[in-house]
Amino acid sequence: MSKLNEILEFNNRFVENKEYEQYATSKDPKKKIVILSCMDTRLTDLLPKALNLKNGDAKIVKNAGATVMHPFGSIIRSIIVAIYEFDADEILVVGHHGCGMCNLDTDNLLKKAIYRGIPQESIDTLLNGGIDVKKWLHGFDSVEESIKDSVNLIKKHPLMPKGISIHGLTIDPRTGKLEVIIDGYN
Ligand SMILES: [Zn+2]
Repeated sequence: MSKLNEILEFNNRFVENKEYEQYATSKDPKKKIVILSCMDTRLTDLLPKALNLKNGDAKIVKNAGATVMHPFGSIIRSIIVAIYEFDADEILVVGHHGCGMCNLDTDNLLKKAIYRGIPQESIDTLLNGGIDVKKWLHGFDSVEESIKDSVNLIKKHPLMPKGISIHGLTIDPRTGKLEVIIDGYN
């Protein structure tokens, strides 16, 4: 059975058995917080459990590395919408040790792309068009520095209203243990 069919089959049972009832909530985050974290598979369940977040408690935004890459990219856009439209007043940037985006080997990634049939010319065309693909793909050298950069970018954003606390933390992807890198109350 294909992955999609497997999912659809499970989904039919899920809905028929009304398993959704236990998750009923609203779209407004009860705890008024937004979390930016990493797409790491170890954090899917662990992060909300370790932070005591249930369905309906928080807006959770994820990408590779829990990084804000661009002041007008989709991450900041999500955070801004969460603040103005959903009344969030606290932001937690939660990175983690052992992240796949830490010291990502971009040369190797591009080699894999070429192996998978992407023509070198396509990559060159991007480069010639001013898109530094390696820089774009690059993660970070230190998770703490990356968290600080992201927190600062959010803090200094021209659309960020006063009175929003922006924290930076790491989470251990094995134990769920949090460590505060930036305490947004100070
Ligand atoms: Zn990660």
